[in-house]
Amino acid sequence: MKIHEYQGKEILRKFGVTVPRGIPCLTVDEAVKAAETLGGPVWVVKAQIHAGGRGKGGGVKVAKSIEQVREYADQILGMQLVTHQTGPAGQKVRRLLIEEGADIKKELYVSMVTDRVSQRVVLMASSEGGMDIEEVAAKHPELIHQIAIDPAVGLTDAEADSIATKIGVPAASLADARAQLKGLYQAYWETDASLAEINPLILTGSGKVIALDAKFNFDANALFRHPEIVAYRDLDEEDPAEIEASKFDLAYISLDGNIGCLVNGAGLAMATMDTIKLFGGEPANFLDVGGGATADKVTEAFKLMLRNPGLKAILVNIFGGIMKCDVIAEGIIIASKAVSLNVPLVVRMKGTNEDLGKKMLAESGLPIIAADTMEEAAQKVVAAANGQ
Ligand code: ADP
Ligand code: MG
Repeated sequence: MKIHEYQGKEILRKFGVTVPRGIPCLTVDEAVKAAETLGGPVWVVKAQIHAGGRGKGGGVKVAKSIEQVREYADQILGMQLVTHQTGPAGQKVRRLLIEEGADIKKELYVSMVTDRVSQRVVLMASSEGGMDIEEVAAKHPELIHQIAIDPAVGLTDAEADSIATKIGVPAASLADARAQLKGLYQAYWETDASLAEINPLILTGSGKVIALDAKFNFDANALFRHPEIVAYRDLDEEDPAEIEASKFDLAYISLDGNIGCLVNGAGLAMATMDTIKLFGGEPANFLDVGGGATADKVTEAFKLMLRNPGLKAILVNIFGGIMKCDVIAEGIIIASKAVSLNVPLVVRMKGTNEDLGKKMLAESGLPIIAADTMEEAAQKVVAAANGQ
């Protein structure tokens, strides 16, 4: 789950990380009032969307007067902000953060992620903050420093100081940087984050260390123990199909292709997408209906896939274990009738009650293309999507 920058900064503040004073707003008038409350002489008007790269896209503007705050707030609110993370359609700006302007001397980069290989939280840092870190990683990997943090000990003073020194924090600011890094680690750890990124972390003219941006992702599997994080959810920023899916407990992710996939089990779902790609097709979604899907759930899954106007064909790939093939067949038959299916449907099922399931589909009168192996199913659905 993602949150806005202003929410990320609320979390950071709670854990003792220094962030600029700022006020989130929904209207131009609120933005002007916020600027007056904060006091001048410099304010930053910041679009709040669940994507980075806002500065380059025109979503972050420095204002030198209240009139400019009004002008920029008016410009940015409601704009369709396009960044390298939003896709070409961009994301509509519905919220702003009005923040006091900081005196930037140097922009640094710090982030934390959970590294599956070392099974630890890794602190990454670079002297090259502000710009695309992906570019730094590609062209100057030597400028990115990493430490895998021992979970039993946490981030130590020595580790924090070592990495801060490597990214160019001067001796006089080391204690400040240490406090910020330890606060970030605590925030990451205690909120069950899966990503926390401060880009830029700045050094000010007077040597202070401040987080100017905040990006958090949270582990969805741990949200049950963080109602305060769930309260940050902003449905305006999420894919409507994915919101709908979460209501029915379906694991659904929209993708760019045109072949819908309905599969049980996340591993089989990924293997199915791989097989489709192997034969030259492009999946329109990831969809795991889970182990205990009912006919109702399958119907909802079909409705979700059919929301996509670019859908050209559907592949149902089911392994009947706990889930019986006849239950899926029943779901497919009910769903196809309920949603008036208008794209070719390829079905491959294996396992418990396979014969019964296949018989039900064959007798349903629906124009279903049957397949026996994954290879055959993928080839058939790719051909169907291409109108062959
Ligand atoms: P994004 O990463 O989405 O582009 P940032 O919050 O990092 O958005 O802002 C982009 C740039 O704008 C920063 O790198 C920094 O140079 C500048 N900036 C952001 N917030 C402030 C602030 N409060 N004071 C001064 N400059 C800022
Ligand atoms: Mg940034």
